[in-house]
Amino acid sequence: MMKNKRIDSTTTLLILFMALLLSLFIYLFYIEKNIENYTLNHDHLIKLELLDKEFNNFAISMNSFRNYDEINKLEDQFQQTLSELNKNLTQNYSKDHKLAIKLLKIQTNFQEKRDNIEYFKSLNASLISGSHFLFDLQTTIAEQQEISLKTKNLVNEALFFILRFASSDYIDKAFVIKKLNKIKTDKLKQIQAAHLINNFYQQATVMLHNIAAIKESAFKIKNSDLYNSIEDLNRALNTLYAQNLFTQKIIAVLFFISTLIILITLIITNLKARKNEKELYAFKYAVEHSDNSILLTDPDRNITFVNDVFEKSTGYTKEEVLGKSPRLLKSYQHDDNFYQELNEKLAREERWDGEFINKRKDGSFFYEKASIVPVVLNNKLISFLSIKLDITEYIEQNKKLAQAASVFENTEEAIIIANAQGEIISVNGAFSTIYGYKHQEVLGKTLQILHSEKQNENFYHSLWEQLNKNGIWRGKLINKTKNGELISVWSTIKKVTDKNGNTINFTAIQTDLRAIENTQAKADYLAYHDSLTGLYNRNNFEEYLAHALFIARKNNTMLAVLFIDLDRFKVINDTLGHDIGDKVLITVAKRLKHALRENDFISRWGGDEFVVIMENFDATEEVAYVASNIIKHLKQPMKIDAHQLVTTASIGISLYPQNGENANTLIKHADSAMYLAKDMGKNNFRFYTTELSKKIQNKLDIDMALHNALQNKEFYMVFQPQYSLKTKKIFALEALVRWKNPQLGTVAPDQFIPIAEDSGVIIPLGYFIIEESCKEYKKMKDQGVDIQHIAINVSSIQFKKPDLLDHFLQITKKYNLSPSEIEIEITERFIMEHTLANMTMLQNFQKEGFMIAIDDFGTGYSSMSYLKQLPIDTIKIDKSFVDDIAEGSSDNVIIDAIIALSKTLGYTIIAEGIETKAQEDFLTNLSCDIGQGYIFSKPLSSKEIIKRFS
Ligand code: C2E
Ligand code: CA
Ligand code: CA
Repeated sequence: MMKNKRIDSTTTLLILFMALLLSLFIYLFYIEKNIENYTLNHDHLIKLELLDKEFNNFAISMNSFRNYDEINKLEDQFQQTLSELNKNLTQNYSKDHKLAIKLLKIQTNFQEKRDNIEYFKSLNASLISGSHFLFDLQTTIAEQQEISLKTKNLVNEALFFILRFASSDYIDKAFVIKKLNKIKTDKLKQIQAAHLINNFYQQATVMLHNIAAIKESAFKIKNSDLYNSIEDLNRALNTLYAQNLFTQKIIAVLFFISTLIILITLIITNLKARKNEKELYAFKYAVEHSDNSILLTDPDRNITFVNDVFEKSTGYTKEEVLGKSPRLLKSYQHDDNFYQELNEKLAREERWDGEFINKRKDGSFFYEKASIVPVVLNNKLISFLSIKLDITEYIEQNKKLAQAASVFENTEEAIIIANAQGEIISVNGAFSTIYGYKHQEVLGKTLQILHSEKQNENFYHSLWEQLNKNGIWRGKLINKTKNGELISVWSTIKKVTDKNGNTINFTAIQTDLRAIENTQAKADYLAYHDSLTGLYNRNNFEEYLAHALFIARKNNTMLAVLFIDLDRFKVINDTLGHDIGDKVLITVAKRLKHALRENDFISRWGGDEFVVIMENFDATEEVAYVASNIIKHLKQPMKIDAHQLVTTASIGISLYPQNGENANTLIKHADSAMYLAKDMGKNNFRFYTTELSKKIQNKLDIDMALHNALQNKEFYMVFQPQYSLKTKKIFALEALVRWKNPQLGTVAPDQFIPIAEDSGVIIPLGYFIIEESCKEYKKMKDQGVDIQHIAINVSSIQFKKPDLLDHFLQITKKYNLSPSEIEIEITERFIMEHTLANMTMLQNFQKEGFMIAIDDFGTGYSSMSYLKQLPIDTIKIDKSFVDDIAEGSSDNVIIDAIIALSKTLGYTIIAEGIETKAQEDFLTNLSCDIGQGYIFSKPLSSKEIIKRFS
């Protein structure tokens, strides 16, 4: 989320940067064009000025023959240049009226000049022809006799001055006219001559006028405003250019500055981003290595992240919880208000702090102190962050402390706590009652204030010596109260040390022996007894056993250790509370005493464990008798407060000298035997045997090997045919799993299935069995094996997975099978755990078309009438009933009854484990539907099935 955002802003900045850079280039190009444009205009203007100069030059060459084509060309050039300029200007400066006016001025000035040049040209032409004519006249005149020399000279002079007038500005026209008029003075008689002179005069006058006119037009040409107007435009353009250049410079600088700013921003963003990334990494690192369990959910409360601590404290792996709701940790220990308050707070996007009692994957509860914080980014809720600390230990510690504190205050024993230096730091109420000292009066004092002179230096010396050596001292002290009275107390002093063995403090628990003064037994009683039940405690047990062993060894007698553990006591404690639990323990203690012989040693080990030491017996049968007596007594219902409770016990027994020479071994073996008793269904007792220890070892080996067995493909399926007893034809197949392990060899399912159930391996193994059975079944069907269905054994543990039905549906679909081709075999044990969830699940299976069979029927406690309520199709009578048939035992009656009742209830009946013809016939006669057993066929591989039945 954050990362995207960052990329976004960076990209926009980058795009902006590129855009600016591009604009800058375009702008520079535009400036370049501008300069080009300016130079072009400038060139045009220069050209115009040059042309103007040409025009002026032209005006000087009066009275000479000129090629007018050239000047026409120049004029055209001027006009063309001017219109190009015009075009250019209107294109680039269309809005500038001043420029247009200035251009117009040039145009008019040029027009004027051109007119003048035209005029000049025409005048010049007549001037040239006029002057030729005048020279001709002058030559003719010079040849005339009648014309006087004087006149001729005057003509010459006039012509000279006319020419001078034409070529110079220093001759006045009037002066030339005066000279010309002088010609008229010669009155000539001869008409032709007079005509000549007159003609000359007139021509000369015309010429003079022409010259004056041409001079004027040349003047006008030369002094035309054209140049100025061009210059004017030039100047205007220059100014404009200069202005433009200035703005362009400014804009370019602005461009540059903004580009620079963006560049800097980009760099800063990038640096920040890198910092963020580092922070993010550090954060992630912190989360992953935090001591807290950290969990992130999306706004819909689906888990998106958990850290390692979460995995450790809940037992779930990341893969198992991602995408799921944190509700899977729910322990149902909080009431609805708790979650309501939490949800309301989170819905308001507020932080929630509190403590959870949550449930681990293994079902155990744990305490968590939690903060759940809604994470809001840009006003949008993106996730919930929950940081939790496992405080189970702390809570438990606190409970213990609270218990300890209450014990401390409420006990009748005086309790004294002293520091390592022996100075009193705390005493309880009982202390004050016994000694008469108030709490404050003894704080900081040493224990010596209680000493009386009755016990000497040596006594205390050995006390401390023992205390330092063993960490504990027990014995009778004669102490002195505040008012000097001597009292004897039974004292247990303990040295409390830290991990490193340093003394932290000393605790002394003292029982006032005044009331039972001189009753040593009572003192012992208190020191060696469990305060709740009044039985001996563990310390006492150990001492006693050591002593008893010593005696047994000496007298060469036997001895038995009975390890008694209550079944499901934890449930009572957890569900009804410790008070009830305590009362149950007290009752159990009473019953134990009642069940045992006077001399048997009985102790409570803590929790729900009791240990008995039996001496003085001759045969192990006596021990067995006592054990069964205990079981009988314990399983009677007891009434505790309003509750009617039943506790049973499992007992493990080890014998001296058969099962061990020393206390430790005997205890260990009794303990393992107890576990076997539990394994065998609780509520019974077991003797330790070497077999047992082998069994335990074997069990451990199997457990170990099971974990990799699936992966190593050590499992495969075999199929046992089920026959119709009526037609004696194959009817169905039961799928049975097989395990071949390289170290353990072939292990029977009876051995490993219960272990797989305990360790949870049954779950993946179960999936394997379902898939493999369907796959093989499909193969056999395709090969022409004609059967109704396949029966698959499903452990009750597998039903704990809510997706079991889905899994079945998925697999049947995968192999194109109908659910009606699958029969699910469940044991009575599953039926007996008839939770609502289990029943619903069975119903759902049936709804989908699967058939349900009860396996090993008759071994459990389920009654037929109870079965009636269940969604069941088939009943499999257990082999033990079939076994009894041949012997003609009373079970024949039972099997008869089972079959008859099942028939009336509409179940299909299968008898399993049929080995003899007698059994087969018997069952056929009772119209049992299906038979399965070695007499028909052992379990076979699918290959063998195909070979035999297709
Ligand atoms: P089960 O479900 O009652 O299976 C019947 C057992 O009796 C099978 O032993 C079978 O080989 C055996 N059997 C059949 N006919 C005779 C006979 O005529 N005489 C004798 N002596 N035995 C006969 P198997 O395969 O060793 O299985 C033992 C138990 O292990 C099964 O009892 C079942 O509870 C469990 N099991 C076996 N395969 C599976 C499986 O795939 N899944 C589950 N959950 N449990 C299985
Ligand atoms: Ca079965
Ligand atoms: Ca069975």
